[in-house]
Amino acid sequence: MTAIAEGLTLDDTALAELQASFRGDIVGRNDATYDEHRKVWNGSIDRRPALIARCAGVADVIASLKLCRRHGLPVAVRSGGHSFPGLSVADDAFLIDLSLMKGVRVDPDARTARVQAGVLLGELDRETQAFGLAAPSGIVTHTGVAGLTLGGGIGWIMRKHGLSIDNLRRVDVVTADGELVRASADENPDLFWGVRGGGGNFGIVTEFEFDLVPLGPSVLAGPIFWKMDDSPEVLRFYRDWVADAPDELMTIVLHRKAPALPFVPDELHGKPVVAVICCWAGAAEDGERVIRPLREFGKVVADVCTEKPFLAHQAMFDPSFPHGRWYYFKSCDVPALTDEIIDTTVEHSLQISSPLTSFPIWQMGGAVARVGEDETAFNGRSAGFTYNIGASTATAEGFDEEREWVRNLWSALERHFTGVYVNFLMDEGEDRVRQAYGAEKYERLKTLKRKYDPDNVFRINQNISP
Ligand SMILES: Cc1cc2nc3c(=O)[nH]c(=O)nc-3n(C[C@H](O)[C@H](O)[C@H](O)COP(=O)(O)OP(=O)(O)OC[C@H]3O[C@@H](n4cnc5c(N)ncnc54)[C@H](O)[C@@H]3O)c2cc1C
Repeated sequence: MTAIAEGLTLDDTALAELQASFRGDIVGRNDATYDEHRKVWNGSIDRRPALIARCAGVADVIASLKLCRRHGLPVAVRSGGHSFPGLSVADDAFLIDLSLMKGVRVDPDARTARVQAGVLLGELDRETQAFGLAAPSGIVTHTGVAGLTLGGGIGWIMRKHGLSIDNLRRVDVVTADGELVRASADENPDLFWGVRGGGGNFGIVTEFEFDLVPLGPSVLAGPIFWKMDDSPEVLRFYRDWVADAPDELMTIVLHRKAPALPFVPDELHGKPVVAVICCWAGAAEDGERVIRPLREFGKVVADVCTEKPFLAHQAMFDPSFPHGRWYYFKSCDVPALTDEIIDTTVEHSLQISSPLTSFPIWQMGGAVARVGEDETAFNGRSAGFTYNIGASTATAEGFDEEREWVRNLWSALERHFTGVYVNFLMDEGEDRVRQAYGAEKYERLKTLKRKYDPDNVFRINQNISP
């Protein structure tokens, strides 16, 4: 027997057999690269899995899962490692790491892309943009396609083209008993419904096939800034202005202390600002016309909304959310930006202490809202705005205070909530997962879980317990 973790042993032969045929790399606690490979994006998460199986392909995934099932080992699954609460690594678990599975194949004629589970958003964009195409995804290039898509996938072009899952044609899934199955509208449609929002609860998705949309290579995009003191008026204007904006326009509102970047006037560095960041998924001339009233409102202190490569816009937030900082989030959907919500938001935002904290309010609607609520497991298609209240510090220093700030703003907004996006949850317990799906959908997901994973093998996630 080999001791692989505290109180956890594995039959020598079983481990040797796995190692003999494994195409990837198996990393244990005594290996030099163990610390590098157990890390996830959120620096406040420090967990020590028993073994890390860095899978090179589907066969490695199946072999790892079968070994875990035979020996009763807890299973964690990781693709991009960006789960806010680190639900892709766990102490003493067998970590099935898909990050080596980087295949992307774009078919420019059919306008589709086949994408393996370890691909990051920027890697997918790089391949699709070579053909003037894109798969709707998220706003930070180092996020994993897999986890983002399995929760829904909100991003810069969703109001025109829908969520990531609305552009998903098919997935390959390794189920709890180690079988590889396909799920699409025609094959295992119940499973296909569940993976479009239900996260990793039903199996390990090894490949995604997306429909692609024409985009770019340039888009009209970028932030427009005002002083945060002006935010009550800016947000009231913004709310009315976006109310009937075309689907081509997607915006995110940001409150933060201004970063010391070249386009921000020196006197504003470190001072509280509000920004409306735009992305226009259409002809730039039309976008200029629609965005003009916003850039002419009030006393704009910096305006860098301009035509630029879509790839550059996708990378805009990368420096604000690097790996290894300490992060904490609480999130909620609200139906509209009422005067009360605006005033609460600004009052609390003026109290942000960390220069690294930067929290987005997402404009929803458009194509997202035109897909039926029952068509996918994703919930919240009728949300007006999604709050992703986040705090960040470089290290543990100051983290508790910043986390308290997040909790205070979230509590102050609580009575306005209509739901929450599952991918923006921390580890908040079953009630919050139920809130993310709504009671009815949650029951439907439980029924599906009983069919595909009755033993809850996949439980290190936003868990739908069978
Ligand atoms: C910096 C940053 C920016 C973000 N921006 C956006 C955004 O713009 N839009 C948006 O919608 N969300 C966004 N998110 C949230 C993001 O969607 C989730 O954190 C998502 O879970 C990340 O996926 P991942 O593969 O990187 O994470 P991981 O931590 O690897 O996985 C997340 C969860 O999914 C499970 N999982 C991962 N891969 C698989 C798989 N192949 N099969 C089965 N289960 C799997 C894991 O077990 C875990 O429970 C962002 C997160 C971060 C940290």
